[in-house]
Amino acid sequence: MSIDARTWLDQVPPYRPGRKALTEDGSMASNESPFQVSSNVAAAITHEISHIHRYPDPLADSLRHALAIEHNVDPDQILVGNGSDELIFLLAIAFLAQRGHAVCADPAYLIDKISTLIVGGRVTQVPLKDWKHDLDTMRDVPAEIGYVVNPHNPTGTTHRFQEISEFVHTCRSQLVVVDEAYVDFADDPDSITAMPLARSGEAAVLRTFSKVHGVAGLRIGYLVAHADVITTLRKIRAPFSVGTLAQAGALAALQDPAHKSRSQAHTRALRSQVQDALREAGLEIVPSQANFVLALAADESGLVDRLSEHGVSVRPGSSLGLPGTVRVSVPSAGGLQLLRKALGLPDASTPPVLSSH
Ligand SMILES: *Cc1c(COP(=O)(O)O)cnc(C)c1O
Repeated sequence: MSIDARTWLDQVPPYRPGRKALTEDGSMASNESPFQVSSNVAAAITHEISHIHRYPDPLADSLRHALAIEHNVDPDQILVGNGSDELIFLLAIAFLAQRGHAVCADPAYLIDKISTLIVGGRVTQVPLKDWKHDLDTMRDVPAEIGYVVNPHNPTGTTHRFQEISEFVHTCRSQLVVVDEAYVDFADDPDSITAMPLARSGEAAVLRTFSKVHGVAGLRIGYLVAHADVITTLRKIRAPFSVGTLAQAGALAALQDPAHKSRSQAHTRALRSQVQDALREAGLEIVPSQANFVLALAADESGLVDRLSEHGVSVRPGSSLGLPGTVRVSVPSAGGLQLLRKALGLPDASTPPVLSSH
């Protein structure tokens, strides 16, 4: 074969997914929900199977209208995508191709960086300060897109709405994209979400069904932004990127607030127990508002291997741009016991209030 990939693809780092655990309980590498999908979502998907000889609704209209009501925005301000990752790639194609410029944190959410490099854009990464975005420094970088991940992955740190709003109004990025994949796990999501800025068209907000709604395998997320941004992205998207089953499952998830509340309550309770366990094991942690906890570990690979021997799979920080750390996703109640055992700790004295079954 005599075809070479575009030269700029040489600098694209590979995405390395988390290692699969031996058991469900031991899966703590990919920030997935430890819950089985709700029966409402399963029923909606089963029902929809009778329609999959047809193409999906290109714009996911039922879901889009339900989301418009949920967030009090115009339906034309919403684009549903094949995971929020697809939407990040569309943003890159539209606004960063051919030497466009993105500013993001270091470490960034890897997809933000990869998508920019893939379209021949440039990335300026600004090191975190106290494990948070250094918004004061990011503000002064001229860019087409400024990415803020709130809560951040892999640190779990947050910025309050006031800080985000001030950044949006003073920064030299033309469009600020706030990725809120984990916002529902925060103790007070309303105090940090940038949704009011998306509603007014001043910023863009990314949300996903992969985390709090627990359907990562369906691949569905959405962007809320100024209608002009959505119109541009519609032009370049693949018309049928979001499958019928994903649309039906997401709509059912949205209409199942009890499952969402259970997922939030479980995550908040177990997050604090994961933090306690890591601290008891002598590790320093970064207090988290997401469904994972970052622990500092000088011997990163030693810790990853030790946990792995006990069937616990976590994410090595070096694969996330933070060597000397490990990221532990909030697991099931059974997973917490596995983790404690793997860390050489006794069983938790108070059993978790909520089980995952
Ligand atoms: C998990 C995650 C997402 C979700 O991506 P999907 O493609 O919707 O599954 C988005 N952003 C960040 C920062 C994440 O960690």
